[in-house]
Amino acid sequence: KISKRLQTIADCVTPGSRTADIGSDHAMLPVYLLQTNKAPSAIAGELNQGPYEAARKQAMDAGLLKRLDVRRGDGLSVLQPGEADTVTIAGMGGALMSDILEAGYGQGKLEGVRELVLQPNVGEDIVRGWLIKRGWYLQAEFILEEDGKIYEVLHAVKLQDDPTGDALTALDARLYDSSFLPIEMNAEQGKALLLQMGPHLLRQPTDVLVDKWRLELEKLERICAQLSLSDLQQASEKREQFRAQMKAIEEVLHCLP
Ligand code: SAM
Repeated sequence: KISKRLQTIADCVTPGSRTADIGSDHAMLPVYLLQTNKAPSAIAGELNQGPYEAARKQAMDAGLLKRLDVRRGDGLSVLQPGEADTVTIAGMGGALMSDILEAGYGQGKLEGVRELVLQPNVGEDIVRGWLIKRGWYLQAEFILEEDGKIYEVLHAVKLQDDPTGDALTALDARLYDSSFLPIEMNAEQGKALLLQMGPHLLRQPTDVLVDKWRLELEKLERICAQLSLSDLQQASEKREQFRAQMKAIEEVLHCLP
């Protein structure tokens, strides 16, 4: 049995997909996908020696070395173009995740990949921004709580038969159109807010989403209190920026059903 977090990621993987799990650590996710026959084969990529060995041991113990290829290397560099249908990356910050995706994109490693299942621990907005920039459609989002932590899972797909990218642009424009929120905001502020809080999550808000942003507001409040101790001009500018952000989040929380 795997954690609720990994289960949510596994549920997004289209059955039959050759799956590459990058930053796999103990390879729990690919082992689960193989054992349940959701994936015919899998690759586990790991940068660091310790987790790489843990992944190999896990594959060996599960008798899966034939179907689970454990590779050591940085991000998507372990993949050959066309080797994977699905790429999963979980349990790291959004900035690192987008760096990995961007480097892989530059090396052509995402060619042939049809879906991405991403679970950034923080910085989800950076990941959503990267998806838009590189032509991935954010098809679904999930938010869950486990052991006192809140996680988001982003499921993105490549549109088939969209050579000009027009279909994707139209879908993105609709997804990041904040006019469904009954608050006053210009389009740019609205998009920034949806990038931060999740365009699907905000359309179908759950208690976990509200909990997450209440906690974030408390965190921002503490940062503002710290910043107000400083005389530096930069600190007061930063504080103003946070205050504006907090006001927008509070307004959104207020208007959610
Ligand atoms: N994906 C697993 C999960 O969600 O349970 C493990 C998450 S673990 C916290 C993050 C893993 O990413 C670590 O094992 C770390 O060694 C690996 N990692 C960090 N940077 C990486 C990179 N650039 N390429 C591949 N793996 C990386």
